[in-house]
Amino acid sequence: MSDPIDRTGLRPRYWDTVPLAKMTQKEWEALCDGCGKCCLNKLEDEETGEVALTRVACRLFDDTTCRCAQYPIRHQFVPECITLRVSNLDQHMYWMPVTCAYRLLWEGKPLFDWHPLISGSAESVHEAGVSMQLRTVPEFEIDEEDWEDHIIEEPT
Ligand code: SF4
Ligand code: SF4
Repeated sequence: MSDPIDRTGLRPRYWDTVPLAKMTQKEWEALCDGCGKCCLNKLEDEETGEVALTRVACRLFDDTTCRCAQYPIRHQFVPECITLRVSNLDQHMYWMPVTCAYRLLWEGKPLFDWHPLISGSAESVHEAGVSMQLRTVPEFEIDEEDWEDHIIEEPT
């Protein structure tokens, strides 16, 4: 499958040298590794603030492609879907997956070798077993009270 994100014409290794706030829009978009984990429903412990991701995916998530099926018009169906920006990273990073490139860079960590920017292939995130490709259940099939039965293990 070809890479749905245009990762051409970017500055070499810009993710190592350019601060998040200084990236171009194209560089910003290219940080996404396509893992699909931010499209999962999460459970948050009210007391500890701990967040667990579940394999129960947003109704618009297509786990074959590992992408949103209606990305440009998604807010018509899922108004609460966030648009990640430098200005709201502080607000959202606590629940983003630990392998997410935005979170890694925000935490001052390097990207993994399987990131498409490094591997040169959109498939490497799937081959590394990091993505949610073919691993989700749609939210309309699972009662919210049963989501805890579908918590996924995150790398530590
Ligand atoms: S978790 Fe991060 S890297 Fe994965 S799909 Fe979402 S934004 Fe992209
Ligand atoms: S609307 Fe699309 S981008 Fe937003 S969480 Fe759902 S599948 Fe993901």
